[in-house]
Amino acid sequence: MKGRRTPYHCRVNHAVYWQRGGTPSVTPLRGHTRCDVVVVGGGMAGLTCADVLAQRGVRVALLEQRYCGAGASGLSSGFVTPDSELALHDLVTSLGEARGRRLWDFASGGVARIRGTIERFGLDCDHQVQDSLLVARSARAYRKAVEPEHRTRSAQGEGSTLYDRESLRPVLAARDVHGGVRYGDTFGIDSYAYCRGVRDALERCGVSIHEGTPALRLTAGGVETPTGSVGADAIAVFTDRWLAALGLAPAAVGEVQTFLAVSQPLRDDELRAIFPAEPLMVWDTDLVYQYFRAIGGGRLLVGASDLRETYARREARRSPRVLRRMRRYLARQFPSVRIELEWFWPGRLGVSKDFLPILGRGDARRFFAGAGAGLPWAAALGAYVADAMTHGRQELDQELSPARRFAVGSRVQRVLGKPVAFALSHAAAKYLRR
Ligand SMILES: Cc1cc2nc3c(=O)[nH]c(=O)nc-3n(C[C@H](O)[C@H](O)[C@H](O)COP(=O)(O)OP(=O)(O)OC[C@H]3O[C@@H](n4cnc5c(N)ncnc54)[C@H](O)[C@@H]3O)c2cc1C
Repeated sequence: MKGRRTPYHCRVNHAVYWQRGGTPSVTPLRGHTRCDVVVVGGGMAGLTCADVLAQRGVRVALLEQRYCGAGASGLSSGFVTPDSELALHDLVTSLGEARGRRLWDFASGGVARIRGTIERFGLDCDHQVQDSLLVARSARAYRKAVEPEHRTRSAQGEGSTLYDRESLRPVLAARDVHGGVRYGDTFGIDSYAYCRGVRDALERCGVSIHEGTPALRLTAGGVETPTGSVGADAIAVFTDRWLAALGLAPAAVGEVQTFLAVSQPLRDDELRAIFPAEPLMVWDTDLVYQYFRAIGGGRLLVGASDLRETYARREARRSPRVLRRMRRYLARQFPSVRIELEWFWPGRLGVSKDFLPILGRGDARRFFAGAGAGLPWAAALGAYVADAMTHGRQELDQELSPARRFAVGSRVQRVLGKPVAFALSHAAAKYLRR
């Protein structure tokens, strides 16, 4: 047949690379049990809360509808950096120096907590110590986002290195970038292995873990599940994009979707043709950004989406369009390296309209939190709720309340629909202040 030749690509596994060894079998809770605190949700936030409480001698039961790590935490690309969505400059310009800084420190605390947990439990989770590099894909993005981020970081006493187009080449051999800002104290993980490792360690420490056990209803005295119930003095719910299913913050929590791919193993010289000096965790300043980092086994992990898929109402199983987009991106940035994508999977996560987490409490003994859009934020939220329960912590309650003001309010949201309202709010959060 005549016409354009389709380039040969290796067979793609439409499955989560991190979960290639299979997913665990689970034993749902049957009957009634009692504890001091019941934690709902076995992702980064719920596991962290359970961990902090257990360290303080609190009797904890954790309920997870599927298996720990089944949600966003076990699907993620594992970049562990405070600016999963908002850079320090974004926070300081939108909230002012004191509030912005406080939230930055909150997220940085999440980074430190994840690192500490890996060390404390000796977790085997492909811990890759790598600097972060935020790159600009246009001269405008360099002026409006990268340079200001470097200036703000310097003013705030946070180290960073600014590269223009020329000086970036020895660090990142991408063809189509206009410079970047680099900083350290960040790392990458296999976040599924992390969740499973924490889950097992918590069980050894006496936390009762009930997987395959969805919380159906929160009651005055605990939580009801399909096959039993847990009586508890306090409840902490960390179900992220599923918060609304339990009637929690339905208007304030939305969801977005992104896609990840993992390449076939690359040779050392091929990796050096991407990262001439050392591997870095790279993403760009676009609203729907592309990102990549080197993971164990010499593979490259790549993330991308597009506007339509990001705000799609339904969960995609596959997206040939995004896969093509990723391949085009890699071919354009690194034409000398043949990067074959072998694994490809979608993932959805909870978000708020301003990218800051949602934190609420029904009363003194009932808490919920989510939509942090980042592993460190989720870890910090889990620890915050544990502190709130044991030490009355509350300094961020108002800042992160679901009732705070957003660029697109709930009345307009009802007219536009959630995906459009969230997309507009996100564009405002990222671009209006630049
Ligand atoms: C593809 C992808 C890539 C990402 N990459 C990064 C990254 O590189 N860096 C980064 O910082 N962040 C990243 N994120 C975002 C990050 O993964 C999330 O923000 C974070 O993991 C949220 O953690 P969580 O514990 O709040 O939610 P989750 O991990 O989603 O955990 C919530 C848990 O609650 C359970 N649950 C829901 N309803 C119930 C119920 N009724 N009863 C019991 N259990 C219930 C779910 O099954 C789930 O396990 C990514 C997300 C995705 C999807």
